[in-house]
Amino acid sequence: MAEAWWVEVGEGIWVRRHAELDLSLGLVVGERSCLVVDTGGDEVQGAAFAGAIRELTELPWVVVLTHAHFDHAFGTAAFPSDEVWAHPACRRELEETGERQRQEWVTRYRKENKPEIADQIRRARIVLPRSAPEGDVDLGGRIVRFIHPGPAHTGHDLVIHVPDAHVLFAGDLLEQGAPPAFGDAFPDVWPEALDRVLALKPTTLVPGHGDPVTADFARTQREEIAQVAELCRLFQEGRITTEQAIERSPYPAEFTSEALSRPRRRGGR
Ligand SMILES: [Zn+2]
Repeated sequence: MAEAWWVEVGEGIWVRRHAELDLSLGLVVGERSCLVVDTGGDEVQGAAFAGAIRELTELPWVVVLTHAHFDHAFGTAAFPSDEVWAHPACRRELEETGERQRQEWVTRYRKENKPEIADQIRRARIVLPRSAPEGDVDLGGRIVRFIHPGPAHTGHDLVIHVPDAHVLFAGDLLEQGAPPAFGDAFPDVWPEALDRVLALKPTTLVPGHGDPVTADFARTQREEIAQVAELCRLFQEGRITTEQAIERSPYPAEFTSEALSRPRRRGGR
């Protein structure tokens, strides 16, 4: 399998797929500028992505980060720009957790015997984003919108809507090829966030990991996450055990355990 390749999901809308972590980064091309959606897990991966973009377009770029997880945000230094945007809380999250994420993933990649990637993450300079503009952003003949659909995969997720093409970059609100990740998630309100995303009526949704999906796929994953949320509720009310929750979950044990450990966002607790 190639390390990285393009998938076109609409006219001038591209997904850069990566074998590593099954990561998906995005590119939306207008007439005056292009929008880079997430930058990869380190500057080397970011620079390779930037190089691939330059084969498609010479237009100046602006950058948006869907959330602060390293694999989406640590490649930003490869994209020199005054316009690096994210949800306001993404900046704080990178300030507070950036070095911890770095340590965790350097250790993990060393254990997996991938010292090169570990080293690239160790050396990545973390770039802090500014607050994304509210309302329409005009790339020239093409509008994009940045939307915080509520807490879901993290407390500061941003999705990117390209209305003219009915394409939506969902960050890690959706995953194809693997279950969604609950480590920093708010399972009880995640389904509502996906409802807000689906209300935009996208026909193609780009997950943060895996291949682009349809609205039907997103609806199915929304139902599975709602099942996990319900199991979390029953567990937190003391009505089922960890083992029972794992047994009844649509997802593998490690995913369900992480979900069970997360706080409720709604109604206290
Ligand atoms: Zn993530």
